[in-house]
Amino acid sequence: MDFSPTEEQALAVESFRRFVERDIKPVTDTLRDAPYPKETAHALLGKVMEFGVGNGWVPVEDGGCGLDFLSSGMLFETLARFAPDLAGIAWVTDGAALKIQQTASPEVKARYLPGLVSGDLIGCSAISEPDVGSSVRELRTRAVRDGRYFRLTGEKMWTSNATVADIVTVLARTGEDDFTMFLLDRKEHDFEAREIPKLGLNGWPLCQVILNDVVVSEANVLGTVGRGLKEVMKGFERSRCFVSALALGIGQAAFDDARAYAMERRQFGKPIAGHQLIQSLLAQMATDLDAARLLTYRALWLMSSGRRCEMEAAMAKAFTAEAMLRVASNAIQIHGAFGVTKEFPVERHFRNARMLTIPDGTTQINHLIMGKNITNISAFA
Ligand SMILES: Cc1cc2nc3c(=O)[nH]c(=O)nc-3n(C[C@H](O)[C@H](O)[C@H](O)COP(=O)(O)OP(=O)(O)OC[C@H]3O[C@@H](n4cnc5c(N)ncnc54)[C@H](O)[C@@H]3O)c2cc1C
Repeated sequence: MDFSPTEEQALAVESFRRFVERDIKPVTDTLRDAPYPKETAHALLGKVMEFGVGNGWVPVEDGGCGLDFLSSGMLFETLARFAPDLAGIAWVTDGAALKIQQTASPEVKARYLPGLVSGDLIGCSAISEPDVGSSVRELRTRAVRDGRYFRLTGEKMWTSNATVADIVTVLARTGEDDFTMFLLDRKEHDFEAREIPKLGLNGWPLCQVILNDVVVSEANVLGTVGRGLKEVMKGFERSRCFVSALALGIGQAAFDDARAYAMERRQFGKPIAGHQLIQSLLAQMATDLDAARLLTYRALWLMSSGRRCEMEAAMAKAFTAEAMLRVASNAIQIHGAFGVTKEFPVERHFRNARMLTIPDGTTQINHLIMGKNITNISAFA
C-alpha cells in the first residue's frame, strides 16, 4: 500500500492551492452564507476546471482531464479547505459528466459532455425523495412509457445543485422492481427546482425538484431501461470517497484557524497554545485529521487502481464525516465565546461539517455496510 502523494500530485495540489487562495477564495468569501448566483457558479466552476476539478473524471479523449481518483480527491480536499460550497458544486458536476460519458448514447454525449467539462453546463443527480432517503429501492417517482417517450411524475428532495443546474439526471421507477436513469435538460423539460434553506454549505444549493408529467424522449435514457439502480449503487463507493475529501478540507480549515487563534490569544499571561489542555485539543484534532486522511486516501487509491472498496469507502466516509465534525467543534472550543460568533469562521466550518454525516450514506448506513462486510449478514434485509 503506497498512496503517499507523488511529486507530480504534490506540485499539482500546491499550484491549485495557490490559485484557489488568490483567485477563488476572495470571491467566495464575499458570498459566504448566500447561495451562489447561477452565473457566478458557472464562472467559478470554469476556473477550477482548468485544474481538473469538476471535469477530472472524464477521460481525456472525451474532453475531460482523465485524472486518477486519488489525485482528484486531493484537489477536491484543497478546494473544500477554502471554498467548500464550490467544491460541492464541482463534485456533483463531475459525477454527472462521468455518468453521461459512461452511459449516454453517442448523440446525447456529443450534445452535453463538452458543456459539462468546460463549466458551461452544471449537472446534478436526483435520487432522494421526501419519503425515500437511505432506502433508495423504495423510491416513488414514476416513469411511464408512452411510445418513444416516458412521462415522469414525482418529487425529488435534497438534489444538490438543482437550482443552478442545466441538466438533471433523475432515477425513476419504470416497473415493480425496475429503475431507470433519465437525463433532463432545463431548456427542454418543464420541471421546477426550489432551494431548501439549511444549516451549512449555503452557497451550494440543496433543492426540491418537482416533476409533473414531464415528457422525456427514450433517447435521454442513461444506460439500460430497468438497470438504473445498479448504476447508481456502483457510484456510491466513489461518492463516499469524495464526500470524505470535502469533509477533510473543511476539517483542515477549522484546524488551521484554531491553531492560529491559539497562538495569538493570551490568557493567564501566555498564548493559550502554551496551555497543556489546549495542546491536547490540538493533538486530538491533528490525529483525527491524519486518521481521516489516511482512510480517505486509501479508499481513493484503491479506486484509482480499479479495485472495489465498499468496506474502505464506507469506513472513510463514516469516520471522516464524524471526525471532521469533532475537529470543527474543538475549533470552536479553542476560540471560546468568539467561536460561536459570526466574527470568526469556525462557526461556519462547524455548520459546514455538520452537513456531511448525512449524504451518500449516513454514518449509520455506512456502519451497516461495514457490518455486512464483517459478518456477511445484511442488516438491511
Ligand atoms: C449536503 C447534502 C447533499 C445531498 N445531495 C443529494 C443529491 O445530490 N442527490 C440526492 O438524491 N440526494 C442528496 N442528498 C440526500 C441524501 O442522500 C439523504 O439525505 C440520505 O441518503 C439520507 O436520507 P434521509 O435524509 O431521507 O434520511 P433517512 O433515510 O430517513 O434516515 C433518517 C435517520 O435514520 C437512520 N436510518 C435509516 N435507515 C436505517 C437503518 N436501516 N438502520 C439504522 N438507522 C437507519 C439514518 O442514519 C438517519 O439517521 C443530500 C443530502 C445532504 C445533507
